[in-house]
Amino acid sequence: MQGLMMDYQLTLDRILEHAYRMFPHKQISTKLPDGSMHRYTYAQFYGRVKRLANVLRSLDVQTGDRVGTFAWNNYQHLELYYAAPGCSAVCHTLNIRLSPDQLAWIINHAEDKVVFVDGTLLPLFERIAPHLRTVQHYVLFNAERGLETKLPNVLFYEELMAEAGEAFDWTVTDERTAMGLCYTSGTTGDPKGVLYSHRSMFLHTYGENQASALGLIEEDVVMPVVPMFHAMAWGLPYSCTMAGADIVFPGSHMNAAALADLIAEEKVSVAAGVPTIWNALYHELKSNPRDVSHVRSLVVGGAAMPRALIEGYEKELGVNVVHAWGMTEMSPLGTVSKLQRHHRDLPDHEKWDIKARQGYPIAGVEMRIVNLEGEELPWDGATMGELQVRGPWIAKGYYKVESNRDAITADGWFRTGDVVTISPDGYMYITDRTKDLVKSGGEWISSVALENTLMAHPRVMEAAVIAIPDENWGERPLAVVVPTKDAGELSEDELRAHLAQHFARFQIPDRFLIIAEIPKTSVGKFDKKVLRHRHAKGELV
Ligand code: AMP
Repeated sequence: MQGLMMDYQLTLDRILEHAYRMFPHKQISTKLPDGSMHRYTYAQFYGRVKRLANVLRSLDVQTGDRVGTFAWNNYQHLELYYAAPGCSAVCHTLNIRLSPDQLAWIINHAEDKVVFVDGTLLPLFERIAPHLRTVQHYVLFNAERGLETKLPNVLFYEELMAEAGEAFDWTVTDERTAMGLCYTSGTTGDPKGVLYSHRSMFLHTYGENQASALGLIEEDVVMPVVPMFHAMAWGLPYSCTMAGADIVFPGSHMNAAALADLIAEEKVSVAAGVPTIWNALYHELKSNPRDVSHVRSLVVGGAAMPRALIEGYEKELGVNVVHAWGMTEMSPLGTVSKLQRHHRDLPDHEKWDIKARQGYPIAGVEMRIVNLEGEELPWDGATMGELQVRGPWIAKGYYKVESNRDAITADGWFRTGDVVTISPDGYMYITDRTKDLVKSGGEWISSVALENTLMAHPRVMEAAVIAIPDENWGERPLAVVVPTKDAGELSEDELRAHLAQHFARFQIPDRFLIIAEIPKTSVGKFDKKVLRHRHAKGELV
């Protein structure tokens, strides 16, 4: 027997309508290229999204067509996040930090019909455009008419918006319609596209806004620092509006000092970004304090947040850190590490141990760990295995990829490639990526654990550990360390002695290289592939 409930389609225009009806006066603020602030209300935003939907129609964007975005985090980008799905098209966010070759490959693979380009990024994009096969129009914002450009068929966003009407009826009738496309950074092989649906993103938004997850509320002022081209800015463009929170976009002003100013001036209560950004912010705030008293959650994900940094934020700056884990393929939120009631009386250092884990699954995400034979392993906090997940906002395959057998198990679970333990109370801890584990003399060494401990040393700014081939042991860990600015001489012996307090002898790297900066991926994670490559070429000695 079937239930007797309405067949209400979970489409994103419903979130926008709710936001418009309930929170018309709430603010969306963007730091513009010239450093001034652009501010408007949800009501104005709503009107412009409708105009933009009309603009898309006038450019012949039809159901299912891909609309590329090449932009910083700003209000125009948010308008595209709603207008493209609102007229049944797909918002395809392009990672501005990829190489021109990679971007051309991705845009041709996605067959984008129109690309919206942030004027501040024009020189970058001009190098890609000659290689694009399907794009019919380029639309520029943050750009003055009369601007010289090599792009063909250029149109100007504000001119199109001025001509368009504000009446538009949302066109999506089936919640399974595709709404967003994001390619993963692709550490091996070609980049892979993850194609979200209205339903998956709607449910993700509910999931993210559970109180035990990010739990955004109307009172919040949320600053998404995570780029809108990285896993849909972790769903914040939808969860903020669903909650009715004020939104603050940093635009192109992504350095630590500018972010610290914004947090203080805009009274930000929730900010979200990767650990490298929060590491830089921490050092900025230490040397040049600002008022961060309004921050109730500093959300961090995308890579492991070093425990020492969590402790530093909480103990020295009074900022609550919320560690989260997810993947582009998971829309992206999977787990959150908040404390529960039974942790209440623990000493602080044990609380930080828990917060340094990736956390418990949010309702809607199922997890299991398996060994190499695919057998399920216990949640005992010690047994390591590959993490697999399933749920309504997790990809079942990649865009235009026929065989997804490497990604999806025969019984329908997504293989994350993360090696983890799960405690009996459900807190997951990432020991490594499958490909980053160091196998030395038949024993596994976690590069993440070594990095975390190295970064807890007061004079270490960044640390990465890679596996290097070794005749005797198969592989050995090599540590690459960036000292803090005022560290002075940092010796191998000192680092070795520091690690010896926590690790067995065989786990301690044989060598420690001091370098100026750890290479980062396009989304700000340590790029160990580049380090391995440099080592193989004899450049890391
Ligand atoms: P991406 O799709 O680019 O966000 O990459 C997803 C991968 O980033 C995951 O499979 C993890 O390996 C890593 N990752 C994301 N969040 C965390 C975290 N909080 N701690 C450690 N690794 C993370």
